[in-house]
Amino acid sequence: MTKKEKVAVVLDLLLEHYGPTKCYLNHENPWQLLIATMLSAQCTDDRVNLVTKDLFQKYTSIKDFAEADLAELEREIHSTGFYHNKAKNIIACCQKLLAEYEGEVPSDLDALTSLAGVGRKTANVVRGNWYGIPSVVVDTHVKRVSNLLGLTKNQDPVKIEFDLMKIVPKEKWIDINTQMIAHGRKICIARRPKCGECFLFPYCTGGQKLAKETK
Ligand code: SF4
Repeated sequence: MTKKEKVAVVLDLLLEHYGPTKCYLNHENPWQLLIATMLSAQCTDDRVNLVTKDLFQKYTSIKDFAEADLAELEREIHSTGFYHNKAKNIIACCQKLLAEYEGEVPSDLDALTSLAGVGRKTANVVRGNWYGIPSVVVDTHVKRVSNLLGLTKNQDPVKIEFDLMKIVPKEKWIDINTQMIAHGRKICIARRPKCGECFLFPYCTGGQKLAKETK
């Protein structure tokens, strides 16, 4: 089986088990998605959704965040971790959106990554999930699952993004992220993958290697 054939089967199986998925971060507009994604670094989506429920009621626009009091915002997002940097970046990011982008969230990758605290992963979340632009998001689940499956040998998220873009058809770029997250949460759990009940086992080089080692 060639790598392309394997990818096609894996994508079909992921779709069959998890369906066309949607972004796990609650949002109603692009700036809410941008801020929620910034908050999600080193934090669970559930925790971010809990925090943004109140946060987006208090701050109802990019301008509100641009004018936020740093100490107050830090307190409000404290439970998401790395709150000092996150609060500082959110304020600086929103100030730049107001000053240079007329208060709109751009869809261009370079423009997005020029914003404070916005890397390729955050930019790709916004581009894919809000603007519908095919984008591969590499988070901790995608990194782990795609390595175990043998779809990449790289550990660097940007290299993994490019590896996946080469072998995954463009129309699947957005879904593969949310489906791999679902798989990483339910079955291919970090450090204790449930290979025995995994529908991807016949195609998974990492899972087969683990099974041999534990025999
Ligand atoms: S077979 Fe094991 S390692 Fe491979 S994807 Fe499934 S759970 Fe993860």
